[in-house]
Amino acid sequence: MLNEKWDFETKAVHVGSDPCPHTGAIVSPIYQTSTYTYKSTEEAGKIFSGEQFGYLYGRDHSPTELELEAKIAALEGGEACKAFASGMAAIAATCTALLEAGDHVVCDTVVYGGTYGLFAKIFSKFNVSASFIDTSDIELLKSSIRPNTKFVYIETPANPTLKIVDIKETAELCKEHGIKLVVDNTFMTPYFQRPLELGADIVVHSATKYMGGHGDLIAGAVVGSEEFIKKGLHDPVTKLGGLISPFTCFLVKRGLQTLALRMEKHNSNAMEVARFLENHEKIELLVYPGLESFPQYELVKKQMGGYGGLISFELKGGLEKGQAFCDNLKMIQLAVSLGDVGSLVQHPASMTHKSLPLEERRKHGITDSLIRLSVGIENAKDIIEDIAQSLEKI
Ligand SMILES: *Cc1c(COP(=O)(O)O)cnc(C)c1O
Repeated sequence: MLNEKWDFETKAVHVGSDPCPHTGAIVSPIYQTSTYTYKSTEEAGKIFSGEQFGYLYGRDHSPTELELEAKIAALEGGEACKAFASGMAAIAATCTALLEAGDHVVCDTVVYGGTYGLFAKIFSKFNVSASFIDTSDIELLKSSIRPNTKFVYIETPANPTLKIVDIKETAELCKEHGIKLVVDNTFMTPYFQRPLELGADIVVHSATKYMGGHGDLIAGAVVGSEEFIKKGLHDPVTKLGGLISPFTCFLVKRGLQTLALRMEKHNSNAMEVARFLENHEKIELLVYPGLESFPQYELVKKQMGGYGGLISFELKGGLEKGQAFCDNLKMIQLAVSLGDVGSLVQHPASMTHKSLPLEERRKHGITDSLIRLSVGIENAKDIIEDIAQSLEKI
């Protein structure tokens, strides 16, 4: 069920969430099946040749998956969506669909580690080269596009520096050069940012984060034109096998029904936490897109409907201070990932970026005391109290 006039919250609840036509169950069942049976070889033949719609095999898609995809496509404002077993499966399939040997990609230096590795370690083996640059520098971006460049890949806000890239400006540049713009929209979700409306060609997601929202699943999604999703992704989907399970589809679908409410709460809580940290004597640097002090505040206002739930900050002092801050927390959990209902903290220098040489880390803005906080939907007072008691001790 889709009514184009519906607003975001209504689409989130109803699109792809029709009652079961066979039983009237208000929540449609999880189709936990690997394969499908046909009335005759004639019917099977029509389905396999594409003459008639039908299900082929669990690696292609399942009914539960189609429901999820309808919901995500509606929320992102895209023609179609393909769901995957993880964000990385979604990103890998997208890049595989777009690239051939000899091609070149421009990718921001600050992207999810797995994405960086995909270009630096996997596609590089197949003679696909990548330039890692600061894509928010439009002149640099312009000069980095080569005749064999196929697409520009960005994440905005980026992780963990929260740098913003102007999607509209970047999309226009890509159009001029006849190349595609791929945007990882995991951090904002379509509730706060819709890159396709700003001119991007393809949006990718780790649904593990805010979309699922409860820290209980791994999933990914790609949104784009019907042509790209149905034809372009067909081979990477069926040959690479990054399929999402029906049960995970059910969980993501359920998570999305409350996405708007959760994002509002993540946003207002993060704002309160940022205000608390803003003038704290033990904080060296605070980065939150909702603060007037944020370097790209004007762009934030232009392109995003909110600021999200992620805050990065540096403590006065070095590595030990960063570690002590994390270790002293009582309610906020020390864990990678983000976007869960519960607040999560991570210390990049001892966790996600530990293997990077010190020089590289510094170059990417990952200082020793940098903390990344994913503010949950608990009561803001309790989050702040936990942070305050930990800061007190260091
Ligand atoms: C987590 C994450 C990914 C990878 O997604 P998985 O679901 O963990 O495979 C990609 N991009 C961003 C921005 C992420 O945060």
